[in-house]
Amino acid sequence: MADRVADALVVGAGFGGLGAALTLVDKGRDVVLCESLAYPGGCASTFTRDGYQFEAGATMFSGFAPGQLMHRWIEHFGLDVDVELLDPVVRFRGGGEELVVPRDRAAFVDRVASLPGVPEAGARAFFAWQARLADGLWRLFDDPALLPPFDLSALARHVRQAPAYAPLVAAAGRSLSSMLPRFGLADAYPLRAWLDAVCQITVQATASEAEAPFALAAMDYFFRGCAHIRGGVGALASAMCRAVEARGGEVRLTDRVKGLRRDGGLWIANTRRGEVRARAVFTSTLPADTASLAGIWGRRLEQLGARVSGGWGAVAWYLVLSPDVALPASATHLLCLDDPRAAPREGNQVLCSVSAAGEARGPGGVRTATVSTHVPLLGDAAAVAAAAQARARATLRLRAPEVDAAIVHALPASPRTFERFTGRSAGAVGGIPRRVGVGQYATMFPRPVADGLWMVGDTVFPGQSTLATAIGGQRAAVASMR
Ligand SMILES: Cc1cc2nc3c(=O)[nH]c(=O)nc-3n(C[C@H](O)[C@H](O)[C@H](O)COP(=O)(O)OP(=O)(O)OC[C@H]3O[C@@H](n4cnc5c(N)ncnc54)[C@H](O)[C@@H]3O)c2cc1C
Repeated sequence: MADRVADALVVGAGFGGLGAALTLVDKGRDVVLCESLAYPGGCASTFTRDGYQFEAGATMFSGFAPGQLMHRWIEHFGLDVDVELLDPVVRFRGGGEELVVPRDRAAFVDRVASLPGVPEAGARAFFAWQARLADGLWRLFDDPALLPPFDLSALARHVRQAPAYAPLVAAAGRSLSSMLPRFGLADAYPLRAWLDAVCQITVQATASEAEAPFALAAMDYFFRGCAHIRGGVGALASAMCRAVEARGGEVRLTDRVKGLRRDGGLWIANTRRGEVRARAVFTSTLPADTASLAGIWGRRLEQLGARVSGGWGAVAWYLVLSPDVALPASATHLLCLDDPRAAPREGNQVLCSVSAAGEARGPGGVRTATVSTHVPLLGDAAAVAAAAQARARATLRLRAPEVDAAIVHALPASPRTFERFTGRSAGAVGGIPRRVGVGQYATMFPRPVADGLWMVGDTVFPGQSTLATAIGGQRAAVASMR
């Protein structure tokens, strides 16, 4: 309808946009969600190529245990998805003994403390301290009402919890690795390699680079309701779209937003299929892409944009594996590191995620895998991607020979591929690296970047995963309704 004015237009059905759209429709707002692609999920989607189904990027999903956000949404919106909590969650292969990471945190600490090369008392003391800090932070993620902007009741709860925050303040502005010597763990391999590996895939920086409170919270990612979505995460994204529609929202796939302009207090979007008029807009695009869509630029967008370009792209291999691959039948994640003392990126480290058996990922009962590694966005992009692809295959061959032996078909992807499919310029993915600096906390307060224009997605706080972007989308939606 030409004269319809929606309460909100959401640009992009990634988890940031989906989180915002669900929150808005749940409060009775009229929402139009436009997505360029024919399927939702963005970096966390499931696509079909050559008759096989692959996870595009994200493969490990958190927040599915009772009480946590994704679990609450599944119940509240009646999302029709088949979720399998993982145990073990991931297998870390960084040379030496394989570290099998169970769902239970205490069991994990027992395992790490008994590894050769790791001082037991130091490891136990470190994880006890880390748990205290991480628990305080995760409480905030489980209940986004506790994140800024606060209402009076949240403020009162914060005042009551203040003592729990003191260690966090002490750790702010310091790297995770600077905390290790006091536990005797500065050179305690393989624990040190594990910390680097986990920090890289969560906060996008190694333990030496990472802002400690972010890294300490991210270390518990695997123990926070980590799940596999049977059939692929695209099934979850599609179920979220259906929930938006069931509450009166409109989801338009294959409807790219080409431009946004402000007119008479409204935002007018020029989309592939026509025009959408809305009182507010939520974009899940990168800062530079939001700026060029809306024709605006400002200090905040510039600062966010600069942090993105100091971040990462991804190189991936999408593999079709023979059904008799020598792995457990459940979805299996192998975090493989070639040289444990070198940076866990550019193919030296890969995350290889294999679908569960019997999931219909292609003809003949095959299983599919997504193998990914971080690459810098600087330099000769094609040469960097080619080198990382070759190195990633070599790391896989070395650390996951059972996967390598089962490959029947392989498709490579580079930052160019991510740029083409998700529209993220230069193929920047994964969010803003949380490198040391108290400036990391500057974006904690959701604010519009222009009148009625909000950014969601992995470049705004808390960013960096499907769960975090969903939380960010929810927070921006709540803030806009205030
Ligand atoms: C290789 C890789 C591995 C990862 N592994 C994990 C993991 O294991 N676990 C985890 O939780 N996270 C992981 N992540 C991170 C996670 O996928 C992202 O942080 C999150 O999915 C990003 O969501 P988003 O909403 O910010 O953006 P996106 O997912 O990029 O979504 C943006 C959407 O907007 C659409 N769009 C763009 N421009 C327009 C336009 N003009 N009009 C309409 N639509 C538009 C795009 O098509 C896209 O669907 C991984 C990411 C990558 C790349």
